[in-house]
Amino acid sequence: MLPGLALDNITIDEISAYFNYKSEVHVLRLDKISPVISGNKWFKLRYYIEEAKTLHKHGIRTFGGAWSNHILATAAACASAGLQSIGIIRGGQPTQLSSTLKQALAYGTRLEFISRSDYRDKRIAVKADDNFLTVNEGGYGPNGAKGAATILDYCDTDYTHYCCAVGTGTMLSGIINRLQPSQQAIGISVLKNNFALEDTVQQLTGSSIINNWQIIHDYAWGGYAKYDPTLLAFMNDFYRQTNIPSDFVYTGKLFYAVTDLLKKNYFPGGSKILVIHSGGLQGNTSIPAGTLMF
Ligand SMILES: *Cc1c(COP(=O)(O)O)cnc(C)c1O
Repeated sequence: MLPGLALDNITIDEISAYFNYKSEVHVLRLDKISPVISGNKWFKLRYYIEEAKTLHKHGIRTFGGAWSNHILATAAACASAGLQSIGIIRGGQPTQLSSTLKQALAYGTRLEFISRSDYRDKRIAVKADDNFLTVNEGGYGPNGAKGAATILDYCDTDYTHYCCAVGTGTMLSGIINRLQPSQQAIGISVLKNNFALEDTVQQLTGSSIINNWQIIHDYAWGGYAKYDPTLLAFMNDFYRQTNIPSDFVYTGKLFYAVTDLLKKNYFPGGSKILVIHSGGLQGNTSIPAGTLMF
């Protein structure tokens, strides 16, 4: 069955009590729109899908790892839109497919496995009559940011701070593009020491000086998809007290960071903070069952 998008399911949950009412904190629950086209991924893909249709492409080709939310979301979103999809997967063909890739296959995606070095250099075999729109890993690019900006159609416009997890920086860029100069965007990077991010975000936002946004690199937990018992214990505690599940790659680190920053009085008194829950819960299937209580 093709997944529908339940944009009506998006809620804004107030969790100020979790932080002892130090500030007003709301969570934009994009994780509720679909278990497969999760969180921010449809927003980042929507204009690429439109472009593929306008250009009469067969579908979309894009890149990702074995547990990529983006590969799965692309597979499902393309299937829903009547387009084909190709997932170029980093690393050789595994003997056992991840549950993410199995689900992507079920949506009719074609998987092509390439070596890590070919992946890094984007060396892929493309036939001359290829009729697929190639989309960067994570939907990175102006169309991705333009789509991500529409996330803010689903919440108030008067927050002082908008916080989100950062992989490629596409979502953060879209958010920045929609803010007033007096509002701040805070990105929590989940890649280790990825200091190139500031440049890539600047390219997508056109802002020449960093004034109303910041990327914080202190909560990557040693690197992409790395975690430890402290993070998992935090995620369980956060769920127990707020009823909000998170994923260990992106949003668990985001909620931990916001909690820690509030403790350290990073946000001025009277702040009204929006934390964007960008989904990604399917990725939790890659850690041992029973580790998380949700
Ligand atoms: C992909 C993803 C992100 C990162 O978005 P970027 O636009 O690449 O920075 C954040 N959260 C979740 C849950 C994701 O799946």
